[in-house]
Amino acid sequence: MDNIQVFMRIRPLSEDEYKRDRTSESAVRMLTDSTVSIPSQRTENFTFDFVGTEDCAQEEVFEAVGKRAVEQCIQGYNGTIFAYGQTGSGKTFTMQGARDEFTGPDDELRGLIPRCFEYLFARIAEEEARCNGRVKYLCKASYIEIYNETIYDLLDPLIRTCALREDIKKGIFIDNVTEETVQDPNEAYSVFVRGTTSRHVSATSMNRESSRSHSVLMLIIQSLTQMDTGLTEIRESQFNLVDLAGSERQKLANTSGMRLKEAANINKSLSTLGNVINSLVDISNGRPRHVNYRDSKLTFLLRDSLGGNSVTFIIANVSPAMCNDAETASTLRFAQRAK
Ligand code: ADP
Ligand code: MG
Repeated sequence: MDNIQVFMRIRPLSEDEYKRDRTSESAVRMLTDSTVSIPSQRTENFTFDFVGTEDCAQEEVFEAVGKRAVEQCIQGYNGTIFAYGQTGSGKTFTMQGARDEFTGPDDELRGLIPRCFEYLFARIAEEEARCNGRVKYLCKASYIEIYNETIYDLLDPLIRTCALREDIKKGIFIDNVTEETVQDPNEAYSVFVRGTTSRHVSATSMNRESSRSHSVLMLIIQSLTQMDTGLTEIRESQFNLVDLAGSERQKLANTSGMRLKEAANINKSLSTLGNVINSLVDISNGRPRHVNYRDSKLTFLLRDSLGGNSVTFIIANVSPAMCNDAETASTLRFAQRAK
């Protein structure tokens, strides 16, 4: 399996888009199962590891992305899932689900986050049973938001800001971030709901609850193995679930003050993420490159999870509407760079 996997997901046309375009014709043309084009933009063809069309179920996305990411983390690799796309393209639907609080494992519309939690703890129980109590897993969750290049701890009642630090032994870590021990999917999900409720949001014309910040849910998964020598071997992996800020081109013209800074920071951090992913692809193809993790908080924070023993999934979320065809093409171009 490639270290970087790219998935594209087209959400169903919304009523507003239908009213605006007066057609339900999709801007995205499927050429094969995994290749698409945007004819109205006269773009090139785009090929991905997986393309989910309008009728793609949450379960399918979990099977293709979530399950594989969790499996890697159980094996001791780091795993990261990014949801990329313009505001309203379905990032939060993909990661979290249709509702703020899902109603349990039978809720078909629940997203990757609750599904990954369920699968992770089921696999942990399996592994522990298989090793007859010689292996014990420990999970800790942190949940932060990066807004304007500042890290906010969403699990802290005061939403404290936190600094990134680097340590020879620990690597990159967030100083003083809240870490909650979680022992089952419900506990993990309630931590996620608590943080989400605190999230910093600001309105845009496209979507009332448009997110201008990145949210990163981090799970540290430790396995403690009792060795015959009496010593305990500790392995650690990190699983990151990232709902990125909207990728729509941030207009710098006619903008000032906080909005300008906000827009510039979103542009910067998404383009840095693109550059980092690009460099990693080059490296895995045998072309050595320097990787500029330090150019944004997001990439610096995830440095240890993106390079090395890790697997990264990018889900490029797009709208099928003609009125969004330029943004869709731009999202696909971003995602294609990772191939
Ligand atoms: P984003 O987080 O990218 O801004 P959302 O996830 O909030 O976008 O999606 C925008 C709207 O579209 C929401 O009402 C959401 O429920 C709906 N939606 C997104 N993706 C799908 C999908 N695959 N199937 C059905 N509805 C979807
Ligand atoms: Mg969202």
